[in-house]
Amino acid sequence: MRRNSYFSQVAKNYLFSEVAKRKEAFFHENPHSTLISLSIGDTTEPLTPTICEGLTKAAALLGTREGYTGYGAEKGNVQLRTRISQEIYQGKICPDAIFISDGAKCDIGRLTLLFGPNVRIAVEDPSYPAYIDTAIIHRGYENTILPLPCTPENDFFPDLTTAASADILYICSPNNPTGKTYSAKELEHLVAYAKAHKQFIIFDSAYAFYVQDGRPRSIYEIPGSKEVAIEIGSFSKMAGFTGIRLGWMVVPSELCYEDGHTVQSDWVRLITTFYNGASSLAQQGGIAALSPTGLEEITAQIRFYKENASLLRQACLERGWQTYGGIHSPYLWIKTTHNTSWEAFDDLLRNAHILTTPGIGFGKSGEGFLRLSSFASREVIHEAVQRIKVTSCATFPSGKVHMTKNRARVM
Ligand code: PLP
Repeated sequence: MRRNSYFSQVAKNYLFSEVAKRKEAFFHENPHSTLISLSIGDTTEPLTPTICEGLTKAAALLGTREGYTGYGAEKGNVQLRTRISQEIYQGKICPDAIFISDGAKCDIGRLTLLFGPNVRIAVEDPSYPAYIDTAIIHRGYENTILPLPCTPENDFFPDLTTAASADILYICSPNNPTGKTYSAKELEHLVAYAKAHKQFIIFDSAYAFYVQDGRPRSIYEIPGSKEVAIEIGSFSKMAGFTGIRLGWMVVPSELCYEDGHTVQSDWVRLITTFYNGASSLAQQGGIAALSPTGLEEITAQIRFYKENASLLRQACLERGWQTYGGIHSPYLWIKTTHNTSWEAFDDLLRNAHILTTPGIGFGKSGEGFLRLSSFASREVIHEAVQRIKVTSCATFPSGKVHMTKNRARVM
């Protein structure tokens, strides 16, 4: 049996495996230090009481003859789809166009199957690595991936110079890692561009709940977008479901291939072939998250992460670091003066004992940047702020590293 040769084209180590490897090496050399992790974008706060109650009740019901259920509806629990329709889309997307899933990443993978081979995708560079990696495993890199540089110089709005030959544009707003949050005008431009070039847009709204200033949370706030866009949503960063696993995808009935076939009917065929839906328990958790009290609680939790981001941002700015994001996003995107972002990563690790994510892991245009995540307890953020204030990293004016703890653990 021959190996799928495309595996040799994906980055050898998945980004966070390499971060974990360097973390282990650091612990080995510094067994008595306390490491602060602002690296992987994983939520840290416990599930809210309403979600817990929803999950517990649902689990207990499954243990009764009357309450037991097996496989669910093919598009997912109708009550959950209705809540997403009402609470997230204010009724402007009908439940029939909403497909519940086991998470956004899984949907990103399945989408590559939907479109099959010989498809070119244009992707914001830097971006969440799964868009490119899933595409490479299916189709290889050559002639299939078109990176669109997003830099401070273009205000992180994708450089569309090479995008015309793409079949699909991947857009994530707020963007992971840059924190770029598109205005309505920018999204209108992208929708018009996609229409003019007969392209689809895949819009990743995993961080939409972090937008609180009236900018669009959904591509469907842009008139005419139902004819060009699929939207991916996730409960992971919205409600702390990174471990529970729950997401959704919107495939509007208006979205058609050039031969007039609806994308929606193919998507139904694909998901019923490839998986049997999200966990029924997770879906009950989602229903609870979108209840009136659930929504209040998750909004408060997001506010907490945003305050974390704001504290980190302030500290970075006070040090004179060139800092982006962290306003409508749980991530800060920091320009470094090191030759490579891995060098900057190692410097901050050695001098401030802070674990970050090197920008290169998100694409070529991420070189020279570090991503800091605000998913942490307030105690950890305060400590990180102190360390940022005094770190003697090469990038910054020298100062003393102030270590307050001496246990070998990751915060
Ligand atoms: N999309 C983006 C932009 C992300 O940053 C992430 C996770 O970090 C995901 C999707 C994956 O979400 P999920 O946990 O629902 O698979």
